[in-house]
Amino acid sequence: MNDNYVSISIRTAGHCFANANYVTKGDKKRKIRFEATWAIIKHPSRGKILFDTGYTHRFHRATKYFPNSIYAMLTKVEIELSQEAKMQINPDEVSHVILSHLHADHVGGLIDFPNANCWASEKCLNQFQKTPKWRGFAKGLLHELFPEKWIKNCKTFESCNSIIHEILGKGYDLFGDNSIVMYPLPGHAAGQFGALVQTKNGPIFLVADAFWDMRAITHKMGPDPIVRLFFDNWKDYNTTLNKLRKFHKAHPTVPLLATHCPKTVEMIYSPKTI
Ligand SMILES: [Zn+2]
Repeated sequence: MNDNYVSISIRTAGHCFANANYVTKGDKKRKIRFEATWAIIKHPSRGKILFDTGYTHRFHRATKYFPNSIYAMLTKVEIELSQEAKMQINPDEVSHVILSHLHADHVGGLIDFPNANCWASEKCLNQFQKTPKWRGFAKGLLHELFPEKWIKNCKTFESCNSIIHEILGKGYDLFGDNSIVMYPLPGHAAGQFGALVQTKNGPIFLVADAFWDMRAITHKMGPDPIVRLFFDNWKDYNTTLNKLRKFHKAHPTVPLLATHCPKTVEMIYSPKTI
């Protein structure tokens, strides 16, 4: 029996605006708010763990000048200091930060948690290393948001024991106790992973940007293909979507929480204490 259950609290730090008709093909043309959600996971022996970090004010500083300013032009970001991850949880209490992928709305707070172990996929690290700073914005990477030498200190999911899931394929058991297992969800960004976590009330799958709106899973209503311009691999994205549709069909009670999905936003601060 597994008694390494974790508890989870969904938070948000900043938001940007997206075109509804791009997020879900066929939706009315209007701007919708894209919350940059992240999660605090409390593990019985490993302490407090962050899954992504949301935005920080550093996004504005990092995108002040050309060419990074193009990123800010395409993505209008609003962030209040009181919302930043470090204001919602004491950095000294955070033992691990899991990065689903390296886009600015996921890694924005990383620098504020210098004592935590950072985790990412090998592909994310490789892409970061081979992308020169000046070209990073084109891949959604802002080198200014990363601590110095973070690559050297970052642990990879692939260094953990692997587990095979009948639908999700090969996953990596972060702490060897099945409490947090990382599965690849490629397509949106190079090396994106999601976290299947075990809570007392059942599993929850944090799927990052594998989709933006749950209707992509339940109603096959995915984004407009125009967004492929900003994606790493459109074919992989659709393969990942199909995998998640299959997972949802087989496990309809397991919540799939995507970073910007309205269903995830509904869960912000629930439960209130962690
Ligand atoms: Zn992203």
